[in-house]
Amino acid sequence: MNELNRRPYNKPIPHSRPTVGRDEIRLVSEVISWGQLAQGQAVADFERNFSQKLGSGGAVACSSGTAALHLTLLAMEIGPADEVIIPSYVCTALLNAVRYVGAEPVLAETDPETFNMDPADVKERLTPGTKAIIVPHLFGLPADLKSLTSLGVPVIEDCAQALGATYRGKKVGGFGHAAIFSFYATKVIATGEGGMVVSDSKELLGRVRDLREYDKKPDSAVRYNYKLTDIQAALGIAQLDKLDTFIRKRRNLAGLYRSAFSDLPVGLPAKEKGHIYYRFVIRLNEDANAVIERLSLEGIECARPVYRPLHLYLNEGGYRQTERIWRQSLSVPLYPALKRNEADRVAAAVCAALEA
Ligand SMILES: *Cc1c(COP(=O)(O)O)cnc(C)c1O
Repeated sequence: MNELNRRPYNKPIPHSRPTVGRDEIRLVSEVISWGQLAQGQAVADFERNFSQKLGSGGAVACSSGTAALHLTLLAMEIGPADEVIIPSYVCTALLNAVRYVGAEPVLAETDPETFNMDPADVKERLTPGTKAIIVPHLFGLPADLKSLTSLGVPVIEDCAQALGATYRGKKVGGFGHAAIFSFYATKVIATGEGGMVVSDSKELLGRVRDLREYDKKPDSAVRYNYKLTDIQAALGIAQLDKLDTFIRKRRNLAGLYRSAFSDLPVGLPAKEKGHIYYRFVIRLNEDANAVIERLSLEGIECARPVYRPLHLYLNEGGYRQTERIWRQSLSVPLYPALKRNEADRVAAAVCAALEA
């Protein structure tokens, strides 16, 4: 084996990596030795800890962020003939959830400063059929909740990338009708797969809880099997305990990148106190693909932070901002498990790739 290839600085740095350790292993082992694997006490504990952490009226755990969105839309009685506004610049999970309930997805444009939904564009797309707006806080940066919650339509906050982020000093997830979270392996906290619905409405949470599982019901109305397992919840409990540390590390790394990239001809993330930097996205003046490839040859895995905007999947025209942002943006590795020397290596490689 080539000596050089074994040097740590030649090891590729992945775009994303979970931060798990002894606490996670201990709690998961405990659950396994109790013998309760499916939804039970650990899920109940995770729900309670989660809603305390956010200061919400309650929380219901489920199998994914997509399931959380699906259950929330069902609980809000949104269905065929209803319209739901979602951004174009987001993953297809939102599109799928809207389609699961048979509603019509209406795509909104992107604000080029924040990469979140443009409230002025959302306003223009409102019709009497609009029953909800799903508002993601993309890359960990809170969306313009003041404008979006004042349009007279219920807002579902999509906090899949923004657990612990704050808007005007208050944690996101408490501004809309309900909010959803994801604990997919690459998210802010990870349980492999998993999701959560939070709301201050006991009634909405009750419906979500009822729809999540099918057993021992008084009638045969359609219900789902969207439960989290106690094994996953054990991971979630251990991860949630580390949330504040995770966010501190994310913000430190973001500070490092921000100063390293300050002289580059690129757009940097909006400088907001409540940002948790789930992703550190930089915008170039050119298509990002060549730079992503160049960095990959250096062992630095970067990615387009959104695989493909929804209007391209749906063959809809007119989303010029979204399309330019999508083509020109790349996300660099940033996560709590990223070591300082790795971040320095990422920073140096990005500078070299862009100065070249
Ligand atoms: C990951 C993600 C989802 C979907 O969550 P899953 O747990 O993968 O189903 C929804 N919305 C946003 C913004 C996400 O990043």
